[in-house]
Amino acid sequence: MKRIVVAGAGGFIGGHLVKELVKKGNFVRAVDIKPLNEWYQISEDADNLVLDLRLKENCFTAVNGCNEVFNLAADMGGMGFIENNKAACMISVLINTHLLIAAKECGIDRFFYASSACVYNGDKQTDPDNPGLRESDAYPALAEDGYGWEKLFSERMCRHFSEDYGIITRVARFHNVYGPHGTYDGGREKAPAAICRKVIDARMTGKKEIIIWGDGHQTRSFMFIDDCIKGIQDIMYSNINEPVNLGSSEMVSINQLVDIVEEIADYKMERRYDLDAPKGVRGRNSENSLIRKLLGWEPSIPLKKGMKKTYDWIKSEMENEAIEKKGNNRFNK
Ligand code: NAD
Repeated sequence: MKRIVVAGAGGFIGGHLVKELVKKGNFVRAVDIKPLNEWYQISEDADNLVLDLRLKENCFTAVNGCNEVFNLAADMGGMGFIENNKAACMISVLINTHLLIAAKECGIDRFFYASSACVYNGDKQTDPDNPGLRESDAYPALAEDGYGWEKLFSERMCRHFSEDYGIITRVARFHNVYGPHGTYDGGREKAPAAICRKVIDARMTGKKEIIIWGDGHQTRSFMFIDDCIKGIQDIMYSNINEPVNLGSSEMVSINQLVDIVEEIADYKMERRYDLDAPKGVRGRNSENSLIRKLLGWEPSIPLKKGMKKTYDWIKSEMENEAIEKKGNNRFNK
């Protein structure tokens, strides 16, 4: 039985990963800074710990006695969050640094780091018809301010801990992950969940208008959570020593993403474009030659299929919230 630490287990991807690793019969130590009642998913069979992993001593508590670490902990969110919280994003460097130090001291065998497409050079993302970002496009470095620079630095830290201390480190550059049990409101949500929420809210309240950040022509690719969880494990247990893209290559514009959600909801709205809202780079897509060559696989769950599952989950959450609110109002009268 492997003894595995998942850092950031109370979050979106971490929650799904813990579930999968527990299901496979591993001992899993699930760690997050958030109180347990705020975790998106809890696996009762995991050793669930609430710890601030910016602190070195907490990283030792988390890692001691285990053989593998998946680091998915970061102070992050969608564009609205990372553009306005650059310093906070950079502080996540403490998490990966202290986890790596603890991994080295505690004799960890394998270490996974969740990097991001935000490490890529901004000059290669000015065209909405992005041909796909290859791994080499991270250099010369011009990463996303704050968040992207932290990811790039932490990638290199993993590389040097591997070269100098012999820990096996694996780095995946995630491209926009979406799916059930993720953030859909509060300011940290990303485009797929935000658009679902806006359309569901409009349907519930009869609104006829949707506000879209930017002009809607900016492009991205989105990877469904099931592909992400498979990819994380395949990369962790591979012999891939370099950072590799983990993303879908099905690129769409934000307008096309709204089309998909409207079709799922069977509800059409007037679009208003907020050109002053945070919008990130103009065009981004995952170029998957390297992962195909190294793993013989790439994320392939169609966007429409994944968005339907995501939409249904957010809808049921929002309906439950509305019922709860109604109940509370009645109780308060
Ligand atoms: P998330 O915000 O849902 O999960 C991150 C978790 O880390 C949160 O639960 C948070 O409480 C925890 N955390 C933050 N600071 C901590 C600390 N000091 N100590 C312990 N835990 C702490 O995000 P996610 O979408 O699950 O992302 C997981 C990882 O993948 C992150 O490193 C993120 O940067 C990376 N990533 C995600 C995406 C995406 O589209 N979701 C894209 C690229 C990269």
